[in-house]
Amino acid sequence: MAGRITLTMIKPDAVAKNYTGSIVKMIGDAGFRIAAMKLMHLTPVQAARFYEVHKGKPFYEPLVAFMSSGPIVAALLEKENAIADFRELIGATNPANAAPGTVRALFATDVQRNAVHGSDSDENAIIESDFFFSGLERY
Ligand code: UDP
Ligand code: MG
Repeated sequence: MAGRITLTMIKPDAVAKNYTGSIVKMIGDAGFRIAAMKLMHLTPVQAARFYEVHKGKPFYEPLVAFMSSGPIVAALLEKENAIADFRELIGATNPANAAPGTVRALFATDVQRNAVHGSDSDENAIIESDFFFSGLERY
């Protein structure tokens, strides 16, 4: 059975361009419930740990530098079929391939600075949620 949670980050490009409100509105309008949310500036060590699964890929080190370049908004979202529905809402990794109307089509700059993160599996949604939020921070 598909899980009910996904973890998102509004990435430093989108926070810096003041797109946070517009993106949070899209998330709410798509039927996701916000169970936890925070603004924070990741250190390079924290960003490297979050994206450890991509270690060794050519985009890994620039990605870590980008993700620690300014504040992000992390949020734990709840909905039936959360992983697939959220990835549909945000669109393809490369905004050039993202469907019209998706978050990345609307707000991303390029394949790296692509406005938002979304978990890729139920297992990773749990790992990523535990990375950002304690039990006391979830409602
Ligand atoms: N990324 C990049 N170049 C690439 C592929 C990915 O800079 O060729 C960055 C981009 O910010 C992406 C993140 O690395 O969101 C994680 O990549 P993944 O393949 O997991 O894409 P996502 O799950 O975020 O769509
Ligand atoms: Mg991914």
